[in-house]
Amino acid sequence: MTPLQTIQAGLSKGECALFFSPINRRYLSRFRSSDGILLVTRDRARLYLDSRYYEMACLKEKEGLLAPGIEILPSGFRQDLTRLGEEEEVKTVLFEDQSLTVARLQSLEKTYPALTFQPMGTRVEEMRTVKTEEEIGYIARAQKLAEEAFLYILPRLEKGRTEKAVAAELEYYMKLHGAEGASFGTICVSGTRSSLPHGSPTENPIEENTFVTMDFGCLLDGYCSDMTRTVCVGKASDEMRLVYETVLAAHEAALAKVAAGVTGKEVDAAARDLIAKAGFGEYFGHSTGHGIGMQVHEAPGFSTRAEGKTPAGAVLSIEPGIYLPGKFGVRIEDLVVVREGFGESLNATSKELLEL
Ligand code: ZN
Ligand code: ZN
Repeated sequence: MTPLQTIQAGLSKGECALFFSPINRRYLSRFRSSDGILLVTRDRARLYLDSRYYEMACLKEKEGLLAPGIEILPSGFRQDLTRLGEEEEVKTVLFEDQSLTVARLQSLEKTYPALTFQPMGTRVEEMRTVKTEEEIGYIARAQKLAEEAFLYILPRLEKGRTEKAVAAELEYYMKLHGAEGASFGTICVSGTRSSLPHGSPTENPIEENTFVTMDFGCLLDGYCSDMTRTVCVGKASDEMRLVYETVLAAHEAALAKVAAGVTGKEVDAAARDLIAKAGFGEYFGHSTGHGIGMQVHEAPGFSTRAEGKTPAGAVLSIEPGIYLPGKFGVRIEDLVVVREGFGESLNATSKELLEL
């Protein structure tokens, strides 16, 4: 069953579901648009697009690139929903409570007084947690492009280059090679600023014998990648080396723990306990990993709160870090596919300490 068919199978006779969020709409219809409405009943799925997208969607439909069973319409949403209500085919409208604004919900309730609006909860988000092999392939390609960008930037990382220049070059490389864009604002922090886990790149030049942490990824065919490498420009001190080796060991410990049925908490603990035993526990404040797919952060997670068993087919990051305020920080991040009995890494790039 396609995701759209699964949603349709979950609707009862008097229900329909509305999708306004670009991510869920794209997930169900396979069409990318910043705007539009997907109206789904048990037996029909109508995608309303205005003139900015209508022709493009028709072209994609002809090429067989849209989800089967989608009708593309240039207008008519209001009349169709009114008619569904009047003919009593539909009484309840499920809406995306994870993303719909209060203002839009109030407007809908005012426009369609005969209909009852109900939150649909996380049903689509939960479906998106378990990826098909096709989706995993998209994420793997996006991650491969990020890795290529990393290999491209390595010889260009030198003393005096600014963090902003490095971040811009990473994004430029990924876009030049097919990415729709960066999957989030590229992080490049160097020297003492590498202790800022999500610091934005500045005009600061990279200095000799310091760490540079780059956290970046791209959006390719609708799916995100995300990776982090910390490298040393020049020579690493003994303390830098110790912290780096501890983060690497924590990363490997978490990766070794990944398998279908293992809780996110157990994977998190594998990394966290190792860092704590090495005496750096208070310097690792964030979770070990997050789910990734059409969004860079989605369910499930590897964290102290993740009590649920991670399902096969989920894709998550593993990204422990140690951040010593005023000194430096290290984070190493790869993506892993949760399989029966093991975790399959989507990265091929070495995680050993690089001194450039
Ligand atoms: Zn990242
Ligand atoms: Zn991440």
